[in-house]
Amino acid sequence: MNGEIIETTAALVSAMEPIHLGIFEGIKAYVENDVTSRGRLNIFRWKPHSDRLRRSAAVCGMTIPYTSEELLEAVRKTIRANGFDTNVYIQPRIWPRAGVPQEVHVVIPVWTFETVLGKDNLQFSKNRKFMISTWRRIASDALPPQAKTWANYGNSALALREAARLGQDGAIFLDNRGFVSEGTGACIMAVRNGRVVTPPVTASILESVTRETLLKVIPEDLGIPVEARDVARVELYASDEAFLCGTGGEITPITSIDDLPVGKEYPGPLTKRIAEYYTEVVAGKIEKHKEWLTQV
Ligand code: PMP
Repeated sequence: MNGEIIETTAALVSAMEPIHLGIFEGIKAYVENDVTSRGRLNIFRWKPHSDRLRRSAAVCGMTIPYTSEELLEAVRKTIRANGFDTNVYIQPRIWPRAGVPQEVHVVIPVWTFETVLGKDNLQFSKNRKFMISTWRRIASDALPPQAKTWANYGNSALALREAARLGQDGAIFLDNRGFVSEGTGACIMAVRNGRVVTPPVTASILESVTRETLLKVIPEDLGIPVEARDVARVELYASDEAFLCGTGGEITPITSIDDLPVGKEYPGPLTKRIAEYYTEVVAGKIEKHKEWLTQV
């Protein structure tokens, strides 16, 4: 926190801090090769996450007083101080200091996680019922979803609350034009006639690092065509497969949308292939994508 290694319980600030103006990142470090082995730990796609953190700060008029390399070193030190040797979630948080808005607090909490797509395919064993939220995704000219601000997650929380009330597992937003936008904490992709389609960055989505990764590897490495284009709500109903993608949930297959089953199989064959490949990429098993890994 602000340049020091500190116990979370001692990382205290005043309750009067302007936390509603905060931004953050969600990044994962994976153990190389085998999630159960004590291999080396690599941060997946540090650069795009670090760049997005800086862009989010800029949107909110904040300047990060550290270089990307200094932040990376701080992440490494924090992980080492915890003695973690398993998968780690890294969540840098930045917000203006109370009374001194030109200065910021920089805090980097880290904690361990069970890989979502590990050997047991945790997400795959669950039914994932999604609904189209009655809440629209925040518009870019109101509260830009392209910046990863905590404030944006108020919109997500309303949609999740509605989904829970209606017995659904999650929600998909439409944007203010009525086209499919994203999930509450992940982007969405659908499979239609062998092609993967996903809403464009202009559909009020966060510029997801996972989405960008998949837009590259799905066509180039798996030979499956992808299209980033506007997606109509009914196209989701008519999809062969649909899944969410994001750092946290990795690849989350969707079983139904508005109680209409998506496709015939769960998870669908392309979703499974994409998810399995993504697991290999993050674990450093694909040689040419090792450039996306930064050793802790
Ligand atoms: N959209 C939202 C609203 C998110 O919170 C996230 C998670 N950061 C994503 C998309 C996925 O982004 P990424 O792949 O960079 O984690």
